[in-house]
Amino acid sequence: MPTRKQLSRPERFGLWKAWDGCCAWCAEKVVFKDVQIDHLIPLDAVASDETREEIVSRYSLPADFDFSGLENLVPSCSRCNRLKSSQVFEPSPALILFISSVRLKAGLARHIANAFNADEKKEKLLAKVEAAMHRGDITESDITELLASLPVLVRKAAVAQPDVYLQIAPGWEVVEQRGHLVTVRASSGRTGITSTSGHASWICPSCGQNGPWNGVICLSCGRMSDPGD
Ligand SMILES: [Zn+2]
Ligand SMILES: [Zn+2]
Repeated sequence: MPTRKQLSRPERFGLWKAWDGCCAWCAEKVVFKDVQIDHLIPLDAVASDETREEIVSRYSLPADFDFSGLENLVPSCSRCNRLKSSQVFEPSPALILFISSVRLKAGLARHIANAFNADEKKEKLLAKVEAAMHRGDITESDITELLASLPVLVRKAAVAQPDVYLQIAPGWEVVEQRGHLVTVRASSGRTGITSTSGHASWICPSCGQNGPWNGVICLSCGRMSDPGD
Protein backbone atom coordinates (compact mmCIF):
# COMPACT_ATOMS: atom_id res chain seq x y z
CA MET A 1 0.00 0.00 0.00
CA PRO A 2 1.34 3.47 -0.86
CA THR A 3 2.26 5.27 2.32
CA ARG A 4 1.02 8.67 3.33
CA LYS A 5 3.86 11.15 2.85
CA GLN A 6 4.27 14.21 4.97
CA LEU A 7 4.43 17.16 2.58
CA SER A 8 7.09 19.76 3.23
CA ARG A 9 5.89 23.30 3.92
CA PRO A 10 7.10 24.54 0.50
CA GLU A 11 5.22 21.67 -1.18
CA ARG A 12 2.05 22.48 0.73
CA PHE A 13 2.48 26.17 -0.12
CA GLY A 14 3.20 25.32 -3.78
CA LEU A 15 0.06 23.22 -4.03
CA TRP A 16 -2.05 25.92 -2.42
CA LYS A 17 -0.55 28.58 -4.71
CA ALA A 18 -0.89 26.42 -7.85
CA TRP A 19 -4.65 26.35 -7.19
CA ASP A 20 -4.70 30.14 -6.67
CA GLY A 21 -5.43 29.70 -2.97
CA CYS A 22 -8.71 27.92 -3.67
CA CYS A 23 -10.19 24.61 -2.60
CA ALA A 24 -9.89 22.16 -5.54
CA TRP A 25 -13.43 20.85 -4.91
CA CYS A 26 -15.63 23.89 -4.28
CA ALA A 27 -13.29 26.62 -5.64
CA GLU A 28 -13.84 28.72 -2.51
CA LYS A 29 -10.85 30.68 -1.21
CA VAL A 30 -9.05 29.00 1.65
CA VAL A 31 -6.31 30.75 3.60
CA PHE A 32 -2.93 29.03 3.60
CA LYS A 33 -2.86 28.26 7.29
CA ASP A 34 -6.22 26.46 7.02
CA VAL A 35 -5.61 24.52 3.82
CA GLN A 36 -5.97 20.76 4.08
CA ILE A 37 -4.34 18.41 1.65
CA ASP A 38 -6.61 15.78 0.20
CA HIS A 39 -5.85 12.64 -1.77
CA LEU A 40 -7.79 12.72 -5.03
CA ILE A 41 -7.82 8.93 -5.07
CA PRO A 42 -7.87 7.77 -1.44
CA LEU A 43 -4.93 5.59 -0.43
CA ASP A 44 -7.38 3.09 1.08
CA ALA A 45 -8.74 2.50 -2.42
CA VAL A 46 -5.34 1.36 -3.69
CA ALA A 47 -4.30 -0.64 -0.64
CA SER A 48 -3.72 -3.93 -2.45
CA ASP A 49 -2.03 -4.68 -5.76
CA GLU A 50 -5.33 -5.78 -7.32
CA THR A 51 -7.28 -2.67 -6.35
CA ARG A 52 -4.31 -0.53 -7.37
CA GLU A 53 -4.19 -2.09 -10.84
CA GLU A 54 -7.93 -1.83 -11.14
CA ILE A 55 -7.86 1.92 -10.32
CA VAL A 56 -4.92 2.52 -12.66
CA SER A 57 -6.82 1.07 -15.61
CA ARG A 58 -10.18 2.59 -14.61
CA TYR A 59 -8.70 6.10 -14.47
CA SER A 60 -6.27 5.58 -17.38
CA LEU A 61 -3.26 6.40 -15.19
CA PRO A 62 0.35 5.59 -16.01
CA ALA A 63 1.42 2.25 -14.50
CA ASP A 64 3.93 3.92 -12.16
CA PHE A 65 1.48 6.56 -10.92
CA ASP A 66 2.54 7.77 -7.46
CA PHE A 67 -0.62 7.76 -5.33
CA SER A 68 1.14 9.42 -2.42
CA GLY A 69 2.81 12.07 -4.59
CA LEU A 70 1.77 15.58 -5.57
CA GLU A 71 0.00 14.21 -8.67
CA ASN A 72 -2.66 12.74 -6.40
CA LEU A 73 -2.94 15.65 -3.97
CA VAL A 74 -5.21 18.67 -3.98
CA PRO A 75 -5.77 21.58 -1.61
CA SER A 76 -9.10 21.41 0.14
CA CYS A 77 -11.15 23.46 2.57
CA SER A 78 -12.05 21.66 5.79
CA ARG A 79 -15.71 21.33 4.76
CA CYS A 80 -14.95 19.56 1.46
CA ASN A 81 -12.25 17.49 3.09
CA ARG A 82 -14.83 16.23 5.58
CA LEU A 83 -17.52 15.65 2.93
CA LYS A 84 -15.23 13.80 0.60
CA SER A 85 -13.44 11.69 3.23
CA SER A 86 -12.64 8.36 1.58
CA GLN A 87 -15.07 8.54 -1.32
CA VAL A 88 -13.89 7.12 -4.64
CA PHE A 89 -15.37 8.89 -7.63
CA GLU A 90 -16.70 7.21 -10.73
CA PRO A 91 -14.28 7.66 -13.64
CA SER A 92 -16.51 10.07 -15.58
CA PRO A 93 -15.06 12.15 -18.44
CA ALA A 94 -15.22 15.17 -16.10
CA LEU A 95 -13.18 13.33 -13.50
CA ILE A 96 -10.58 12.21 -16.05
CA LEU A 97 -10.28 15.86 -17.08
CA PHE A 98 -9.96 16.86 -13.43
CA ILE A 99 -7.20 14.30 -12.90
CA SER A 100 -5.22 15.73 -15.79
CA SER A 101 -5.56 19.26 -14.40
CA VAL A 102 -4.45 17.97 -10.98
CA ARG A 103 -1.32 16.61 -12.65
CA LEU A 104 -0.63 19.94 -14.35
CA LYS A 105 -1.03 21.79 -11.05
CA ALA A 106 1.29 19.27 -9.40
CA GLY A 107 4.01 20.30 -11.83
CA LEU A 108 3.44 23.94 -10.99
CA ALA A 109 3.39 23.18 -7.25
CA ARG A 110 6.71 21.36 -7.54
CA HIS A 111 8.15 24.34 -9.39
CA ILE A 112 7.04 26.74 -6.64
CA ALA A 113 8.31 24.40 -3.90
CA ASN A 114 11.69 24.18 -5.60
CA ALA A 115 12.02 27.96 -5.53
CA PHE A 116 11.78 27.75 -1.73
CA ASN A 117 14.07 24.76 -1.46
CA ALA A 118 16.70 26.63 -3.46
CA ASP A 119 16.60 29.56 -1.05
CA GLU A 120 16.87 28.78 2.64
CA LYS A 121 16.05 32.36 3.63
CA LYS A 122 12.77 32.21 1.73
CA GLU A 123 11.88 28.93 3.37
CA LYS A 124 12.53 30.30 6.85
CA LEU A 125 10.44 33.35 6.06
CA LEU A 126 7.54 31.17 4.92
CA ALA A 127 7.75 29.22 8.18
CA LYS A 128 7.72 32.46 10.21
CA VAL A 129 4.80 33.88 8.26
CA GLU A 130 2.78 30.71 8.71
CA ALA A 131 3.52 30.59 12.44
CA ALA A 132 2.45 34.23 12.81
CA MET A 133 -0.78 33.47 10.95
CA HIS A 134 -1.50 30.58 13.30
CA ARG A 135 -0.98 32.84 16.30
CA GLY A 136 -3.35 35.33 14.68
CA ASP A 137 -0.65 38.01 14.66
CA ILE A 138 -1.09 38.60 10.96
CA THR A 139 -3.67 37.74 8.34
CA GLU A 140 -3.26 37.05 4.68
CA SER A 141 -4.80 40.40 3.81
CA ASP A 142 -2.17 42.12 6.01
CA ILE A 143 0.49 40.56 3.83
CA THR A 144 -1.26 41.43 0.58
CA GLU A 145 -1.73 45.00 1.77
CA LEU A 146 1.88 45.31 2.85
CA LEU A 147 3.20 43.98 -0.45
CA ALA A 148 0.93 46.27 -2.46
CA SER A 149 2.15 49.31 -0.54
CA LEU A 150 5.84 48.70 -1.12
CA PRO A 151 7.66 50.37 -3.97
CA VAL A 152 9.02 47.80 -6.33
CA LEU A 153 11.70 47.96 -8.91
CA VAL A 154 9.68 47.87 -12.08
CA ARG A 155 11.48 46.66 -15.14
CA LYS A 156 9.76 47.83 -18.26
CA ALA A 157 10.82 48.01 -21.85
CA ALA A 158 9.98 51.19 -23.69
CA VAL A 159 9.35 50.75 -27.40
CA ALA A 160 12.61 50.63 -29.34
CA GLN A 161 14.54 51.70 -26.27
CA PRO A 162 16.82 49.79 -23.97
CA ASP A 163 15.18 48.42 -20.84
CA VAL A 164 14.17 51.07 -18.38
CA TYR A 165 14.58 50.53 -14.66
CA LEU A 166 12.29 52.64 -12.58
CA GLN A 167 11.69 52.88 -8.86
CA ILE A 168 7.95 53.42 -9.11
CA ALA A 169 4.82 51.54 -8.16
CA PRO A 170 3.69 48.71 -10.43
CA GLY A 171 0.95 49.49 -12.93
CA TRP A 172 2.75 52.17 -14.91
CA GLU A 173 3.61 51.63 -18.56
CA VAL A 174 6.52 53.41 -20.17
CA VAL A 175 5.20 55.36 -23.14
CA GLU A 176 8.18 57.48 -24.01
CA GLN A 177 11.80 57.87 -23.05
CA ARG A 178 14.12 60.76 -23.87
CA GLY A 179 17.48 60.44 -22.25
CA HIS A 180 16.78 59.97 -18.55
CA LEU A 181 13.33 61.47 -18.82
CA VAL A 182 10.57 58.84 -18.95
CA THR A 183 6.88 59.38 -19.55
CA VAL A 184 4.66 56.74 -17.97
CA ARG A 185 0.96 56.05 -18.16
CA ALA A 186 -1.40 54.24 -15.81
CA SER A 187 -4.25 52.07 -17.05
CA SER A 188 -6.58 54.91 -16.00
CA GLY A 189 -4.95 57.04 -18.72
CA ARG A 190 -3.21 59.30 -16.21
CA THR A 191 0.32 60.21 -17.25
CA GLY A 192 3.33 61.34 -15.32
CA ILE A 193 7.05 61.77 -15.73
CA THR A 194 9.93 60.21 -13.93
CA SER A 195 13.63 59.75 -14.42
CA THR A 196 16.18 56.98 -14.61
CA SER A 197 18.96 59.38 -13.59
CA GLY A 198 18.84 58.23 -9.97
CA HIS A 199 19.12 61.91 -8.97
CA ALA A 200 17.72 62.55 -5.50
CA SER A 201 15.56 65.43 -6.67
CA TRP A 202 13.24 62.92 -8.35
CA ILE A 203 12.61 61.00 -5.17
CA CYS A 204 9.39 61.84 -3.39
CA PRO A 205 10.11 62.80 0.23
CA SER A 206 6.79 61.28 1.30
CA CYS A 207 6.84 57.82 -0.29
CA GLY A 208 10.43 57.41 -1.41
CA GLN A 209 9.55 56.57 -5.01
CA ASN A 210 10.66 58.40 -8.15
CA GLY A 211 7.19 59.83 -8.55
CA PRO A 212 5.95 59.56 -11.22
CA TRP A 213 5.30 63.27 -11.10
CA ASN A 214 2.55 65.41 -12.50
CA GLY A 215 3.89 68.87 -11.86
CA VAL A 216 4.59 68.95 -8.14
CA ILE A 217 2.23 66.10 -7.30
CA CYS A 218 3.65 62.65 -6.71
CA LEU A 219 1.23 60.28 -8.43
CA SER A 220 2.26 57.37 -6.21
CA CYS A 221 1.20 58.94 -2.93
CA GLY A 222 -0.69 62.05 -4.00
CA ARG A 223 1.49 64.37 -1.89
CA MET A 224 2.56 67.70 -3.22
CA SER A 225 6.17 68.70 -3.12
CA ASP A 226 8.62 70.45 -5.33
CA PRO A 227 10.76 67.91 -7.16
CA GLY A 228 13.43 70.61 -7.38
CA ASP A 229 13.76 70.95 -3.59
ZN1 LIG B 1 -14.12 23.25 -0.52
ZN1 LIG C 1 5.13 60.06 -3.24
